[in-house]
Amino acid sequence: MTLQTKIGSAAAEAAEVLERLGVAAPLWTGGDRPVRSPVTGEVVAHVHDASPAQVAKAIDAAHGAYLAWRNVPAPRRGELVRLFGQELRAAKADLARLVTLEAGKIVSEANGEVQEMIDICDYAVGLSRQLFGLTLATERPDHRMMETWRSLGVVGVISAFNFPVAVWSWNAALAFVCGDACVWKPSEKTPLTALAVQSLFERAAVLFGDAPKNLSAVVIGGREVGEALVDHPKVPLVSATGSTAMGRAVGPRLAARFARALLELGGNNAAIVAPTADLDLTLRGVAFAAMGTAGQRCTTLRRLFVHDSLYDAFLPRLKAAYGSVPVGDPRQEGTLVGPLIDAASRQGMEQALADAKAAGGRVTGGELVDVPGCPEAVYARPALVEMAVQADVVRRETFAPILYVMRYSDLAEAIRLQNDVPQGLSSSIFTNDVREAELFISERGSDCGIANVNIGPSGAEIGGAFGGEKETGGGREAGSDSWKAYMRRATNTVNYGRTLPLAQGVEFDV
Ligand code: NAD
Repeated sequence: MTLQTKIGSAAAEAAEVLERLGVAAPLWTGGDRPVRSPVTGEVVAHVHDASPAQVAKAIDAAHGAYLAWRNVPAPRRGELVRLFGQELRAAKADLARLVTLEAGKIVSEANGEVQEMIDICDYAVGLSRQLFGLTLATERPDHRMMETWRSLGVVGVISAFNFPVAVWSWNAALAFVCGDACVWKPSEKTPLTALAVQSLFERAAVLFGDAPKNLSAVVIGGREVGEALVDHPKVPLVSATGSTAMGRAVGPRLAARFARALLELGGNNAAIVAPTADLDLTLRGVAFAAMGTAGQRCTTLRRLFVHDSLYDAFLPRLKAAYGSVPVGDPRQEGTLVGPLIDAASRQGMEQALADAKAAGGRVTGGELVDVPGCPEAVYARPALVEMAVQADVVRRETFAPILYVMRYSDLAEAIRLQNDVPQGLSSSIFTNDVREAELFISERGSDCGIANVNIGPSGAEIGGAFGGEKETGGGREAGSDSWKAYMRRATNTVNYGRTLPLAQGVEFDV
């Protein structure tokens, strides 16, 4: 099949896949909001925005479902998540295809995104038998003090375009086993994948048998729909993934009503290439982390500090990789860099490159790539920018494939520069010197939520807690003890004696 034939088919392909995934045509046709595929630039659907009244109705219904769901034993709740995981396995290729069509990811990355959903389901199933509390020493005789974990309520999930389905699953799979319901506002750029996931969830609920209706809901729309979720009193936790600007708006609104915020915001991730680095491994690690997903991951590598002793050997190899990386239709075998999400993203990229040049940067790549048959899609060759200093443009997140490269001579100074940005998501060091590696992950090392050695900053596994510090928002999702965010902690003290000793020796005899 030629590139040309494939290019013409995004709308038709989306329609076929949506049908197979059980998404009824009225959900994605006839609405006011056009959905564009970044692969071809075509409008592939017209979805319906939820009105404020519809958002409120969805939350009320989810709250009703929650009141029933919390009474279901947690391992049984895990069974629903297990069934959902099976639906994902069966539909993996189709859902991944929709991720490609809607978010522009290359095939292997789109498959990886769905695999990540399957992985978190498996994790949550196990977790459903491990939601454990503690028994604590009490100072009073014949008393027992314990900590128990209870469900929370309706969890609001706001997600970004670049992980259109996985981020929801990190939240939802845990929330469901914790006894919560979920209302999801996907990115307005990627509503179709959300509708497909909801359809798969409903299939799993049918197999489960007696799951309460409306345990999971999708509300489509832009910022206003997100705000309606954020402001609703029956949503005790909102997990919001997106830009720092979004988090700045959402955080205070949640705080104003004392709701919980789990914020997963922008990153400006760095790697240090130290003198003993294995350069072959480093090249692969840097190339994937910086150019993968066309630079549109929160964990994308955006700043590279290369030791003086390696710089002249390493840079030409890295530049060669930038010059030869295949950019094009993400559906085609061999493509490693797909499209930017839209024209606004390209404008942001051009502005950053102009600012970098003005600050003395030397740019390699970054030009538009013409992919035949899709004049409205935006394809760009990733850009590598050699900078003498960490200028302002380097310190901000530009959500596009731009890697700023700087020299360093002293590791402490490189770590200082790596930490000298407002964001704190992910970081790496490439070294075979155990002292440098340990220093990097020590108290005096990286200040990020993720600090790696000899792998890039991008591509986290679900088993660890995911999230970052400073302007990245401080939230943690997925593995480790992240589940605690979706539950209410209660301290219970039980007196099984016949007297009433008060704590701290207080006397109060009436
Ligand atoms: P975005 O901030 O434009 O939108 C994210 C979501 O927030 C969308 O659903 C949007 O409709 C909603 N939203 C925007 N303003 C809102 C408001 N005031 N109230 C309620 N909802 C609002 O982000 P994007 O362009 O979709 O995604 C790219 C950004 O997301 C980058 O900054 C990237 O680093 C970040 N991101 C972070 C993580 C993470 O885990 N830290 C993961 C993915 C993406």
